[in-house]
Amino acid sequence: MTIDATAVDSVSTRIDQSRAEWILRSALESGLLPEHASSFLVHDLERMKQRLGEFKHAFPSSTRHSLAIKANPLVEVLKVAVAEGFGLEAASIEEVELAIAAGCPHNKIVFDSPAKTVWEIEHGLRCGVILNVDNFIELSRVDEAIRRGGSKSAIGLRINPEVGSGSIAHTSVGSVGSKFGLSISDQREQIIQAYATHPWLVGIHTHVGSQGCGVKLLCEAVAKVERLRREIESEVGRPISIFNIGGGLPAAYLADDNPPTPAEYADQLRQSVPGLFQADTTMMTEFGRAIQAGCGLAFSRVETVRRLPNSRKLAVIHLGADFLLRPVYRGDDWKHEFFVFDRQGKISTEHDEPVTIAGPLCFSGDILADQLSIPSVKEHDWIAIRDCGAYTLSMWSRHCNRAIPAVLGFDQGRLSMLRPSETVADIVQLWSSGSE
Ligand SMILES: *Cc1c(COP(=O)(O)O)cnc(C)c1O
Repeated sequence: MTIDATAVDSVSTRIDQSRAEWILRSALESGLLPEHASSFLVHDLERMKQRLGEFKHAFPSSTRHSLAIKANPLVEVLKVAVAEGFGLEAASIEEVELAIAAGCPHNKIVFDSPAKTVWEIEHGLRCGVILNVDNFIELSRVDEAIRRGGSKSAIGLRINPEVGSGSIAHTSVGSVGSKFGLSISDQREQIIQAYATHPWLVGIHTHVGSQGCGVKLLCEAVAKVERLRREIESEVGRPISIFNIGGGLPAAYLADDNPPTPAEYADQLRQSVPGLFQADTTMMTEFGRAIQAGCGLAFSRVETVRRLPNSRKLAVIHLGADFLLRPVYRGDDWKHEFFVFDRQGKISTEHDEPVTIAGPLCFSGDILADQLSIPSVKEHDWIAIRDCGAYTLSMWSRHCNRAIPAVLGFDQGRLSMLRPSETVADIVQLWSSGSE
């Protein structure tokens, strides 16, 4: 292949068109894809490792980072984070098991579900995972479980810092009345009392939301919880040494997006919450989107291109609301950019022409982009959807029962299979009774 080798270096920013071309053409030649694959996904592991490194570099070396599994639960992807020294953050007991399957040491797994059952709590404590308690009902369940079976878990309370919702309300969790965590204002006295009563409460946790939060909002939340932490320490006379600041750092999806770098976030934290950086404190993080979003590319063949009676041009592709749930249902908040390649995988040289890109599902709202100006799309071209590495495959919908496409990993110019595509037989099995 004669492709510009400088494409290899462009891993720190978003995946650009030449790197996407290199990945597409490598994938088409790799022999890894099913013969008639109409779509596939790629996770750029090289870029992911670089992003993990940027976070490690930006924060103090004592920081215990974990990667949010729900952003991208592929076990082969999680293994990369574990190999780089990251722990894994689990939003459910199932994700705790995914972390174990990825080889994550149990004491680096953070279990954060807001709906933990008694059995899940007992299981988590037996495994020795880090556990953040969401509410006082859960706290009494944890207390009883510890009385029954003991615990080697580091346990903290999740605090709702009540700093407002940022720019995207439905992925915010940090405003007054959120279903997550204990209210920093209303429940302040009971929170302090809980630390006084339970000597095994050694940590404190907060998480503000995803994508809609800028550095100012994130820092404000951490600062409020830090004031509470120091107040608790002086009231109960012992250190609350683990401070988990959550995730929430935004990612870039559009050319004009300019999200804060990990270093900018860490520097701002250093200025506004110096207590977090003192030797008596172990900081923990749980980033997902900011690490993963830019590592994912989704490729689809253009199945049909036609003119509608209103003379608009419509292209139907093989990924829609089943893959891009938020962009389709909440299009004002979530958008992606596209590249166009010809059927051999070469960058399209056509002139720009507005096109509506529709997914394959059976409802008229399954639209990924409305009258978008991109190089004129033809039947059997390839379209790449950028920044699909977080909250895309992990939110896959079964509407219309299309099979999940293959996911390839890309590292040092080499492709590997991270997860083979589902087969028709898998789908039949999924909806069957399980009896012969
Ligand atoms: C989802 C989630 C994260 C990760 O959020 P990102 O926006 O992907 O960084 C971290 N912590 C908790 C508790 C979460 O629910």
